Amino acid sequence: MSDARAADPAGRRIRVGLDVGGTKIDAVAVDPSGEIIGRLRRVTGWGDDAVVESIVTAVSGLADEVGLSLSDIGSVGIGIPGLVDADAGRVDHAVNLGVESLDLADRAEQALGMPFRVENDVKAAALGAAALSGVTGSMAYLNLGTGVAAGIVIDGRIWRGARGTAGEVGHLSVDPKGRLCGCGQHGCVETFCGGGALAKAWGRPGALPIRDIFDAADAGDPLALALREDLFHGAAAAVRVLVLSADVETVVIGGGLTALGDRLEAGVRAALHAGADASPFMRSLRLDERIELLPAGSPAAAFGAALVGASITEKEIVPHG
Ligand SMILES: [Zn+2]
Repeated sequence: MSDARAADPAGRRIRVGLDVGGTKIDAVAVDPSGEIIGRLRRVTGWGDDAVVESIVTAVSGLADEVGLSLSDIGSVGIGIPGLVDADAGRVDHAVNLGVESLDLADRAEQALGMPFRVENDVKAAALGAAALSGVTGSMAYLNLGTGVAAGIVIDGRIWRGARGTAGEVGHLSVDPKGRLCGCGQHGCVETFCGGGALAKAWGRPGALPIRDIFDAADAGDPLALALREDLFHGAAAAVRVLVLSADVETVVIGGGLTALGDRLEAGVRAALHAGADASPFMRSLRLDERIELLPAGSPAAAFGAALVGASITEKEIVPHG
């Protein structure tokens, strides 16, 4: 396609964003006005080569679907779990993808001949959530998925901190006598409200363990009731620390657990309200009014990745050949 949608008069082109998850890649194409003009999902491969291959397939498939040629794409941004060196375009320790250390931007650029930028998936999603929610100023994105992490966005930019650790609230220990966390500490926020930790503590078979916990809690099962309380308590603790440390105006909650919708939101709200009961100071912060849930199926993570890719400056765009 070489019509008006592929580039605006200033020469800005289509931006592609990929949210690479443990099972699937969510890909969007964004036109120069910021509108999503195409979206598709592809299965994610396992291991270095398969991850690169599935990314290449997703970009090509998306271009086909929208009717673009690859040369219409100005940049690709990738949000991926793991430890990401955004400047080097490298991802380390993406355990859910079978990746130990991968020069992802270089590999993908060599395969497709367009500039790539790589970012941690939660940080990319934070950027996308801020843009799609229309939040200006400061916000945090709290991802409740298998694990728990947050991204902080200040005036449209990701706040990384000195070593990229800003927002890693999942590993704040809130109960030294609590369950052992994968990080080696006890009672981390993630052990309370991470889908992986809750499923392990639940210990019963089922494809949707958190939904099972909620259903069993509704039916009065004591373990399920306790775990559901843990989830609300842990998410509330994460919201508190994000507001108390960064004073973000809004905490947008996303991630797989948001499939629970109102059942999750109402519980976290109630936990925040109850937690502030005895404290005029905490009540004054109105935390229960400062959370929002991303709608199920929101493209925020892939859209944020497209924004990450769009941040590539012209001088960084060098032809490969
Ligand atoms: Zn931990």
